Order: sequence, then structure tokens, then C-alpha cells
Amino acid sequence: MNDDSIAKKRFIKRFPQTQSDKDLAPLTAYGIGGAADLYIQAHHMLDIPEIIQQAHELHIPYYLLGGGRNIVFSDKGFRGLIIHNKAMSIAVRENKITAESGAMLAQVLAEARKHKLGGIMKMVGLPGTIGGALYGNAGAQGVEIGDFVTKATLFDYQNGVHTENSDYFQFSYRTSILKKTHETVLSVTLTLPPLDPHDVTPEIITFRAKKQPKGKVAGSFFKNPSPDKPAGMLIDKAGLKGLRRGDITVSLMHGNWLINEGNGTQKELIELAKHIKETVHHMFDVTLQPENILLDERGNKIDI
Ligand SMILES: Cc1cc2nc3c(=O)[nH]c(=O)nc-3n(C[C@H](O)[C@H](O)[C@H](O)COP(=O)(O)OP(=O)(O)OC[C@H]3O[C@@H](n4cnc5c(N)ncnc54)[C@H](O)[C@@H]3O)c2cc1C
Repeated sequence: MNDDSIAKKRFIKRFPQTQSDKDLAPLTAYGIGGAADLYIQAHHMLDIPEIIQQAHELHIPYYLLGGGRNIVFSDKGFRGLIIHNKAMSIAVRENKITAESGAMLAQVLAEARKHKLGGIMKMVGLPGTIGGALYGNAGAQGVEIGDFVTKATLFDYQNGVHTENSDYFQFSYRTSILKKTHETVLSVTLTLPPLDPHDVTPEIITFRAKKQPKGKVAGSFFKNPSPDKPAGMLIDKAGLKGLRRGDITVSLMHGNWLINEGNGTQKELIELAKHIKETVHHMFDVTLQPENILLDERGNKIDI
């Protein structure tokens, strides 16, 4: 038995609920990805540091999965441990909501409405967890999660559990400091204004149903290079809607959305995305950058 297998056995002994060879595809929006060597669910935020510490000590690579709405695992899966964040409790105190990072943004919005708090309602229908939203400063219709974050409790192996205020996160368009520090978000506190009835218009509620492609999709594949040059418009102008690689196509409804129409693979998705990127660069001298996160089997980000 090699060192890897011994470490994995030790991990399973410590956390017997761990699953082996877990198929990752069903856990992601595109339905893409092979199997993870090890997979564990964390149901309480303080389970996460314990799991990470153990993985660290046993030299087992790990990756935190939220809602899987922005992630594309390798067709070969993941050689290590996937920690699936299912820590979901939410508490509301006056105008502040504190949520464990595995709470779905939808749950947070529902709690806000229940307590007559608003501000974030334009994000209605935005899939994924509050932790995932913080990591990528998710947003919609001119509003971003970073606009409302007061503080968040983080964990990393060197510094342990620590709480940081909003400024720390350096939020900007679809990014935060967490993309560099790789700290794990355990909980998030949002400070919200009172609910304004105009926050939840019928247009906001039906926007996604009318404007967004259905099926195995993960939102915008590329970031918008600038507000006046949305990636979807450039892809449309380049005549790339409907283009296909294997089972992956460019949506006819929205050029920046890719769809897995069957058993598409990460390889096909990357081939298609590279072709889009090259064509848009050639035609408009604009370099598109992916918003979806592509991972290799070691958990490294794949740049296209
Ligand atoms: C139909 C559809 C529509 C979408 N529309 C939008 C939109 O309008 N605007 C928008 O911004 N996005 C949109 N997205 C993308 C997606 O919803 C967001 O990126 C979302 O914030 C991802 O959250 P998640 O929990 O699924 O993250 P995951 O996909 O699970 O993970 C994404 C990254 O965040 C990291 N991460 C997750 N949780 C934590 C944590 N607790 N601590 C540290 N890192 C963490 C992961 O390790 C990974 O690197 C859409 C996706 C879909 C499927």
C-alpha cells in the first residue's frame, strides 16, 4: 500500500462518513466531471476547519465545493478530497443576517424578505451558496454581494479561524481577495436596508425565466470585458451562437452561455471556449477571461 492510500485510509478512519470515488458531475451545474477520490459533507461550519486540518496533516489535497454553480471539474475527477459545504444555518438580528457559508443565496433572500429587509433582491434567482457568492463577488442587475457584506469569518491552516471586515475582501467585478488567499469562508454577515416594495418587481422575478437559457448551464462563461462591451454581444456579433463541440453548444438565446446538451465533457467545453476567445480576439481585439472556474484533477485552475 503506498503513502497516498495509507493517508486516505487514515482520513476515512477519522471521518467514517467519507465516501470514495464520488461522481462529481451531478453536483455541478454543467453536469461535468469525473469522480473524486474522497468526498465529505460538512453540515456545521466548524466541521470545515476540522476536516481541512486533518486533510492538511495527511497531505491530502482538498477543494471546497459550494453549490457547484460556477465550477467545472476535470473529466478525470479530483485526486484528493472534495469538501461539500452543507452548513446552512441563518440568523437574523435587526438589519443583519448572519449565514453559514453553505446557505443558499435563495435561502438568505427568503429570510431577508421575511424580516422585511431588502437591497439584495435584484439577486433573486442567482444560484449557489453565500460562500460561493462571496468568493466571486456574485451579482446581478447592478447589485453585488460585496455591497452588503459587513464581515465574514474565515479559516485557513496558518491563521486558524478569524473574522475580517468588508474592506479586507477587496471586492470588485466578480472577484474578491479570496481568489488569491484561498481562505475558506465559514460564515458571512450582511447588513441590509429595509425592504422597499419596488425592490421586488415582477420584471425582476421573471427576468431569469425570460432571458436565461435552460438546461445544464452555469451562467455567463466569460466575464464582461467592460460594461459597454458585454461578452455575449461580442460573441453574438462574431456569429458564434449555435457553435458546437461535442455535446457543448453556444446558446442561441445568449452568446455568453454554454450548454451541455447531453454528455458533454470539460475537454469539449474548453475547446469551444478557446475557439470563442480566439475568434473574439481576432475580430475585436478584446481578450475574454472566463468567469466559470475550470479545474484540473489536482484542483489547479485551468487558464484558457
Ligand atoms: C443558471 C445560473 C445563473 C447564474 N447567474 C449568475 C449571475 O447572474 N451572477 C453571477 O455572479 N453568477 C451567476 N451564476 C454563477 C454562480 O451562480 C455564482 O458564481 C455563484 O456565486 C456560485 O456559487 P456556488 O456556491 O455554486 O460556488 P461553487 O461553484 O461551488 O464554487 C465556486 C468557487 O467558490 C469557491 N467557494 C465556494 N464556497 C466557498 C467558501 N465557503 N469559501 C471559500 N471559497 C468558496 C469554490 O472553492 C470555487 O472556487 C449563475 C449560475 C447559474 C447556474
